Amino acid sequence: MRNVGFYVKRDELLDPLLSGNKYWKLYALMQEASECYKKVFSYGGTQSNAMLSIAALCHQKGWEFHYTCKPVPSYLKQQPTGNLSKALGLGMILHEVPHNDYEGCVQRLRESTEAKSLFIPQGGADAIAQLGVQNLANEIQQWQQIQHIERLNIVIPSGTGTTAYYLAQALPKCRILTTAVVGDTAYLRTQMNMLGKVPSNISILEGIKKYHFAKPYPELLAMYDDLLDAGMAFDLIYGTVMWKVLLQYQHVMQVTVLYIHSGGLLGNASMLDRYKNKGML
Ligand SMILES: *Cc1c(COP(=O)(O)O)cnc(C)c1O
Repeated sequence: MRNVGFYVKRDELLDPLLSGNKYWKLYALMQEASECYKKVFSYGGTQSNAMLSIAALCHQKGWEFHYTCKPVPSYLKQQPTGNLSKALGLGMILHEVPHNDYEGCVQRLRESTEAKSLFIPQGGADAIAQLGVQNLANEIQQWQQIQHIERLNIVIPSGTGTTAYYLAQALPKCRILTTAVVGDTAYLRTQMNMLGKVPSNISILEGIKKYHFAKPYPELLAMYDDLLDAGMAFDLIYGTVMWKVLLQYQHVMQVTVLYIHSGGLLGNASMLDRYKNKGML
């Protein structure tokens, strides 16, 4: 990319459905016996990568997956696409609630004490992610030793910041470079703060331009195409923004860079549809 070398950890190849950082965030749950739970509850957007990954996990384990969301647009309800159609195909039970009832519903789920049920916060922003991300860190550390790389910058885009947070905690000698894809830097810091004190080896980079979450932009599509030309597909929501920002910080590349591919490629189908609908493609 633009004549600078970097490494990519191809975690998008880990599993067809549970790919990228979701594999690591849900790793601890994958290790649980099927009998542990009967039902899993979560909530959030209807094209979320976390939603699809949890649906895949529950399908594998034989757990019921209940997902609460705000009202779904009628065109999507009539003809679900992308992650939503895949998750429904895996048996996800969708609970649509009116806007004014949404926060209350989520709160009731959070406080539920139903036996053998598990609540996963939006995007899997939970301490349950720590074990898996520690394993991700171990793989990175082993590779770094074999390659004799002394200083390493690790790049990973953030939604909830859970992956970046636990990665930084597990690899205090590395610098974790991330950017806030959902909300702004202050929002990301608040999210990370809910997990604990934010490690000092995290740098939250800010680009010249701020993009609205999951909204089509011609320059993000161009970034996606550039990366494809360079030989790799990244997701259109997180990856493109991270690369856009990273290229504005060329000095970062003076130290060896390892980009953690966080998957999300299945979500590209519905994003590309939106680019088409907007006449950008
Ligand atoms: C979920 C996701 C993220 C964000 O992960 P967090 O741990 O919530 O910060 C980043 N990139 C991709 C491709 C994702 O699917």
